[in-house]
Amino acid sequence: MTRWTRRKFVGLTGATLLAAADPKAALAQALPRVVVVGGGIGGATVARYLAALAPPIHVTLVEPKERYVTCFFSNLFLAGLRTLDSLSHGYRSLAEKSGVMIVHEAATGIDPVARTVELKSGSRLPYDRLVLAPGVSFRLDAIEGYDEAATEVMPHAWNAGPQSVLLRRQLESMEDGGVFLIVVPPDPFRCPPGPYERASLVADYFKRHKPRSKILILDAKDAFKPQDVFQEAWSRHYPGMIEWLPAQFTGATKAVDVGTRSVITEGETFKAAVANVIPPQRAGALAIETGLADKSGWCPVDPMTFESTLQRNIHLVGDAIIGGDMPKSAFSANSQAKACAFAIAAELAGSRQFAPHLFNSCYTFLARDDAFTNALNFRPDPVTGKIKVVDSFVSKVGESAELRRKTARHAIGWYAAFTRDTFG
Ligand SMILES: Cc1cc2nc3c(=O)[nH]c(=O)nc-3n(C[C@H](O)[C@H](O)[C@H](O)COP(=O)(O)OP(=O)(O)OC[C@H]3O[C@@H](n4cnc5c(N)ncnc54)[C@H](O)[C@@H]3O)c2cc1C
Repeated sequence: MTRWTRRKFVGLTGATLLAAADPKAALAQALPRVVVVGGGIGGATVARYLAALAPPIHVTLVEPKERYVTCFFSNLFLAGLRTLDSLSHGYRSLAEKSGVMIVHEAATGIDPVARTVELKSGSRLPYDRLVLAPGVSFRLDAIEGYDEAATEVMPHAWNAGPQSVLLRRQLESMEDGGVFLIVVPPDPFRCPPGPYERASLVADYFKRHKPRSKILILDAKDAFKPQDVFQEAWSRHYPGMIEWLPAQFTGATKAVDVGTRSVITEGETFKAAVANVIPPQRAGALAIETGLADKSGWCPVDPMTFESTLQRNIHLVGDAIIGGDMPKSAFSANSQAKACAFAIAAELAGSRQFAPHLFNSCYTFLARDDAFTNALNFRPDPVTGKIKVVDSFVSKVGESAELRRKTARHAIGWYAAFTRDTFG
């Protein structure tokens, strides 16, 4: 493997660059190349932090979309409390301020021997190190009748963007007194508290605009976290409006009937005015197709470096990985991305690796002015090789309304700071 020591880099900037007609282009060609696939939270953070490290690394970010819409805060959009525009982020700052080369294309394949990434256009990008952060894909074969066409009638809205707009329109045009049904998938899935936050914020909207409506949650599980905090808030803010049905009562979702907007469980059929079916998930399609996921559908990584345990020189971060105790969240993806960037830089420079400190801190809304928080620290466990939680704080039932209001305000500030840390 090529090691890019500081001395080698200084040598390059001296002899090679003086001789070159275009020193900038020569430098870019001579630097170690890292290609990052996926410009969501994990990928954008890796790219930004790698580009800021010394000695310099040539970083290319491959992402088909011109603008990324955050899933976090998209439940506020569904409740009419944020515009989608306020949740959208471009790549200009990453390109202009951080010097990341942005390629707006989808990656379609990887050749780990030649070390190239294949793009949809047919061209290839060479790399010394590759980072994949493709997020999740949806198992559209898991619920009978819930295929690609069904997502246009019963949206999952678990990727923010057109699906969120569709679900918001359906909620707006729903008659007062209708049933909004949320199907929650089995673990693991993106953002474990997300479905219950969605129920809370849609209830906030119904309370103001469609007070006779009901929300039914059909869960694939028998418990969720922090259940007591959610259920206490539901009975306080929206008495009688939200009903949660665990798998032990229903046998969990088996099929959908798009024509009647019904969800079929083992024992019963539930008809909805608006149905939000969140299907089971696995790693993003590219990771599956290139053999970077194991039988679980998720990607195993070395928690020290986030290098794939199945393929050398390829690292993965974010929702696609098996992250041990870390939940699939934007904060986790951002924290893993920073650890991964430092590990790659250390490897390229041949310097010492340190075990990373990893973090997750989430704000979850129970109503527009009521939010709770959790904060967790993690370390790789040297014995099991898994990421383990070492310290945690979670909001409790019984916190004062003032504290919860403050937490909701802090969440707004967190969004601005966090997206700036990710996209520049
Ligand atoms: C409703 C909801 C609420 C949430 N709330 C929170 C919250 O409050 N706090 C929190 O921390 N997290 C929250 N999350 C979770 C968070 O959004 C995800 O965990 C986070 O986005 C994961 O980041 P990622 O980089 O792994 O994937 P993503 O952010 O999904 O990025 C993946 C990117 O890869 C690109 N891509 C995929 N395939 C290819 C390819 N072949 N070539 C090139 N590019 C490709 C995609 O276009 C996408 O831009 C929430 C999620 C949902 C659904």
